[in-house]
Amino acid sequence: MYDLLITGGRIVDGSGAPWFAGDVAIVGRRIVALGQVAAEARTRIDAAGLVVTPGFIDFHAHSDVTLLVDPRAESAVRQGITTQVVGNCGFSAAPVRPEDVSRFRRDGLVFSFPGYTWDWTSMGEYLARLRLDRPSINVVTLVGHTALRTAVMGQADRPPTPEELTAMQRLLAQALAEGARGFSSGLTYMPSCYAATEELIALASVLRGSGRGYHTHLRDYSRFLLEAVAEALRIGKEAEAPVYLSHMYAAGREHWGEKTAQAVRLVEEARQQGVEAGFDITL
Ligand SMILES: [Zn+2]
Repeated sequence: MYDLLITGGRIVDGSGAPWFAGDVAIVGRRIVALGQVAAEARTRIDAAGLVVTPGFIDFHAHSDVTLLVDPRAESAVRQGITTQVVGNCGFSAAPVRPEDVSRFRRDGLVFSFPGYTWDWTSMGEYLARLRLDRPSINVVTLVGHTALRTAVMGQADRPPTPEELTAMQRLLAQALAEGARGFSSGLTYMPSCYAATEELIALASVLRGSGRGYHTHLRDYSRFLLEAVAEALRIGKEAEAPVYLSHMYAAGREHWGEKTAQAVRLVEEARQQGVEAGFDITL
């Protein structure tokens, strides 16, 4: 006797294999049989005409705090999304100094929502808070460069001193140790945009050997798209970390077409040279 039997759907198993028609039998939280399953089940769902898949991973989300406002996350669940990656584009909800919280919340593009209390400063505290609110999806968070730079240098438009760079590396390492799964930058946003390539290489180097990636909102998506793509790939290569280019597209009609193709070629060339590189096209 199965707990749940989903019958007659088109099964797309996520392995890259073509779909096949069949049933999915579940006991507890486990899939125990796939294919033509003839047996009793406590609950049956007729999936004829529907596709049955594992949950989708939304690789680029900004629901860091909206998950606290509405942990049901229906807008994700109803699309079949069961895991979201947040903390993108340099904006993560931690680490943050207590004195920066109100400014962060007011000015942070992805934080300025009513309906939640900001009661954390470290990544560990943020994740603990998220767990308490029991969102209906799995959440993976990155550590944002804007958070690191604000915590150490405020909004200063200058390179970090060696001590400040070390302080940012330590904060990043700590947030990773507390459960964050990567590092993100938002190089068209202040103060992330004040960072030179070398600063980003030094920070992304903290990821080396961990399998965790550097996710970057590029420095430019228009006239200098190719230079921005090259910068991101260089950071991944020199830091020896996977690099993921966020919402890669060419802005402005005059840049459509060939420039986009060249950007993809740059990523492919980096991959051929052994850099683990990829991109999303989320807007
Ligand atoms: Zn972005």
